[in-house]
Amino acid sequence: MISDCWTVQGWNLYFRRLLNDWEIERVAKLLEEVGDFAGTNTDNDVVRWSHSKNGIFTVGRAYKKECNSQSSRYQSSWKNIWRTAAPTKVICCTWLVIRKACLTHEVLRKKRKIILPWCSLCGKTRETNSHLFLHCTFTAEIWSMFLNYLEVKWTMPEHTTDLLSCWIRRGGSKRQKTWWNLIPHCIWWTVWKKRNSRNFEDISNSIHKVKWNCIVSLYFWCKEIGLEDSDQLLELLGSL
Ligand SMILES: [Zn+2]
Repeated sequence: MISDCWTVQGWNLYFRRLLNDWEIERVAKLLEEVGDFAGTNTDNDVVRWSHSKNGIFTVGRAYKKECNSQSSRYQSSWKNIWRTAAPTKVICCTWLVIRKACLTHEVLRKKRKIILPWCSLCGKTRETNSHLFLHCTFTAEIWSMFLNYLEVKWTMPEHTTDLLSCWIRRGGSKRQKTWWNLIPHCIWWTVWKKRNSRNFEDISNSIHKVKWNCIVSLYFWCKEIGLEDSDQLLELLGSL
């Protein structure tokens, strides 16, 4: 009850145990949030939903709020997706990847399809969106190929949408930045095709061949927009 922890001097919160260091900041934030509370009155306590003016929860309002928060999350990635030089079908694939809408085993299980959950590329763990496109040992080798070559220090984020938001090339020419922005599209497209050919056609290619396919796709996309003489890309092809 609010009246139990509210006095005329303000909030008087009791915690059932001592706080951990990492919780102090959260409690400070809580106190900041409830700091504007005007005080209790004699009315009965009621549950109020803070996202509407009258405090009443409705499914419609909750849906609208969720839609708004989702769109702001994807807004930063928008330019990195739709304003790149990748083919349209690849861009659509990227859009599905960051929306976690690709039919990975994780998604299929949510749709109640009975399927073995193991990642078909490494066979070590469950095939989730983040695992397949970011953290799988197979996929990680392709990411490393680009990152090592350009000597970029990188910590893989948790989600695909986060990766796209922070995939920014610092320095380098405009030409290099253009093909750098294409890399996530290229890797995800290659990995998704590879995963499908292994699942549905039982075709198993070596990691070396997959890397080669990935760079060749990137090279041809660059060529389409007149970047065929990107020195670093040609050098990278030669190093395989
Ligand atoms: Zn895997």
